[in-house]
Amino acid sequence: MFLGRQDGWIEVVSGVMFSGKSEELLRRVRRALIAKKRVQVFKSHLDDRYGGVYRISSHDGSQLEAVPVNTSQQIARQVDPEAEVVAVDEAQFLDAGIVPLVNHLADQGVRVILAGTDMDFRGEPFGPIPHLLAVAERVDKLSAICVRCGDLATRNQRLIDGEPAPAEGPTIQIGGAESYEARCRSCHEVPARDRAQTELGVARELGAARE
Ligand code: ADP
Ligand code: ZN
Repeated sequence: MFLGRQDGWIEVVSGVMFSGKSEELLRRVRRALIAKKRVQVFKSHLDDRYGGVYRISSHDGSQLEAVPVNTSQQIARQVDPEAEVVAVDEAQFLDAGIVPLVNHLADQGVRVILAGTDMDFRGEPFGPIPHLLAVAERVDKLSAICVRCGDLATRNQRLIDGEPAPAEGPTIQIGGAESYEARCRSCHEVPARDRAQTELGVARELGAARE
């Protein structure tokens, strides 16, 4: 057997809420366990929608013990030096330090699997995910089903009392099905941003009319 340095890599599972990122992360973790790999799972503990913060939970009810973390430093401190596979769920809530950390782990031969939503409720890039997508060897972008029209959903619709939430709200606001929906681009509504785009559209039209 070749005894040289073992190669590691980074995989990112991204996409809208309800697209099955946790299911996919769990599937990969389960298969790594079947392959008798030493696996460690971390989960940003800001999100405890579907059960205890010590478990990765999926909508299908399958669960796996995970280490709850708030920061990339907490992962760095608790990572098992013997781990062959390190998985991180809800990575969008973590700080920018997650990028050099997972690069370092991959350099050391670890297979790193990260799951996280790539856009916030406004449709803007979310936290460290864009950077992770750039440095990853493998990227999978999952979609859900738009609850409005049945097309493929790519956007996180935030709701307040059933109505689209305005763009000015905080980026991080934990919630489940009562405050978020999966929607497609055309059904996605962000009131203040839509207003800004309308103004931009009007300005463009005025500019074109003047030419
Ligand atoms: P994520 O981690 O991306 O939020 P999960 O793995 O927790 O997603 O859940 C995915 C599951 O959510 C699907 O298998 C499906 O059963 C359920 N689900 C609920 N709403 C939707 C939706 N609008 N589109 C697709 N799946 C949905
Ligand atoms: Zn739609």
